[in-house]
Amino acid sequence: MGLLLKIFIPLLGVALAFYFYSAPRNFSEEMLRGKRVIVTGASSGIGEQMAYHLARMEAHLLLTARTQAKLQKVVEQCLKLGAASASYVSGSMEDTAFAEVVVKEAENTWGGLDMLILNHIGHSYFTYFNGDVEHVRKLLETNFLSYVAMTTSALPMLKESEGSIVVVSSVAGKTGVPFAAPYSATKFALDGFFSSLRSEFVMEKVNVSITLCILGYINTESAVQAISHVIQDTPAPKEDCALQIIKGAALRQRELHYPARLVDTLLLLRAFAPDFLDYITRSSYNVENISRT
Ligand code: NAP
Repeated sequence: MGLLLKIFIPLLGVALAFYFYSAPRNFSEEMLRGKRVIVTGASSGIGEQMAYHLARMEAHLLLTARTQAKLQKVVEQCLKLGAASASYVSGSMEDTAFAEVVVKEAENTWGGLDMLILNHIGHSYFTYFNGDVEHVRKLLETNFLSYVAMTTSALPMLKESEGSIVVVSSVAGKTGVPFAAPYSATKFALDGFFSSLRSEFVMEKVNVSITLCILGYINTESAVQAISHVIQDTPAPKEDCALQIIKGAALRQRELHYPARLVDTLLLLRAFAPDFLDYITRSSYNVENISRT
């Protein structure tokens, strides 16, 4: 008992110190007013919703995705909602040169940048890995390399503004899930790269925050279409998800988990009982609805 207390009390002290040191300040919408923000993958889903929240908070917005017509509509809506300014650049992030073009556009328009929100993903399939190595390479270019390229181009401006990088990832970027091997690989790559970069920033006293967002199942059209026949859980709302990401970014949180309780539980199981987590994940899937391509 005595020995247990000797171990437990210092541990509790460290945990409390860590909690109070890392406890987030309060969020206020003014934190985003007048900030210059790039949002990728902003033509639909969570990216579109982040654009609307940022518009209400009176940020300057530069949006990007491939579909010009959708971006045009999102920009119009952002201006109605109160964005300080809003424009878009359309193109594909399969080409890392395009990623640099987007950052250059921000530099030419604003002469600086406060927040880079990396959110887009290329199309993948939800079924058994089919051996298509070329698909994995392309997905890595879109979902990972373009994130690295945009960060590299934006870093001088972000250092100047002491700004923020937001990386939208997934539970599939922390624990492997069946039927999403290529997607999962790209999300794990983001964690490796951006967690390393965060540590380097601390060592070099670079005051640019990196918020890695670990999301569960969210009710965007593309996610529901891709997985609702296999996973019967109720997806969380994209509007609130988008707002929590912006709050986490403004508070310079290291990681944002959404929905928090579910993701925290999964990550705890991943750390202490990975085989059990794999088992319950597999058991919750309607595998009979999966078709091999
Ligand atoms: P979404 O609705 O499908 O949106 C994807 C966005 O990326 C769209 O704006 C799309 O627009 C753009 N995009 C697609 N291919 C592109 C390309 N080659 N180049 C540039 N842009 C491209 O996705 P979402 O569900 O909102 O997901 C957003 C983020 O949340 C992703 O990082 C995803 O991994 C993460 N997440 C989502 C869920 C979920 O359940 N929804 C769960 C975990 C993590 P265009 O087609 O016009 O290019």
